[in-house]
Amino acid sequence: MNTQLAKCRRCAKLFTRERGDLCPECKKDENRQVEKVRNFLDLHKESGPSKVAEKTGVAPEEILRFAKDGLIPASEYENIRYPCEVCQEPIASGRFCKRCNSNLAEEFEKTVEKMRDTGRPR
Ligand SMILES: [Zn+2]
Ligand SMILES: [Zn+2]
Repeated sequence: MNTQLAKCRRCAKLFTRERGDLCPECKKDENRQVEKVRNFLDLHKESGPSKVAEKTGVAPEEILRFAKDGLIPASEYENIRYPCEVCQEPIASGRFCKRCNSNLAEEFEKTVEKMRDTGRPR
């Protein structure tokens, strides 16, 4: 198995990375927060990030990160949306909106084709 030392995104402690960018303690802490946010959202599906933050004590940007990382099913909650990485359009899953996703797929295909044409990568 390929293990490597990483710096925890939250407490900046060094730890042996297996998965993700949080040390085991922060991961546990995050799991607790995710659970709190999910429980609240399941009862109040229409809540937006600031409302959820107020009720759970979890920062709004963390809540949106949970959504982006797929830790909470944002598509089930009306107002949990985070911006597409390209055009800032609000989305509920993945990193890009549908339009940017298909644009990127097209770009990718073009690049692959170009690589094939010239016969040398990049
Ligand atoms: Zn940590
Ligand atoms: Zn987009």
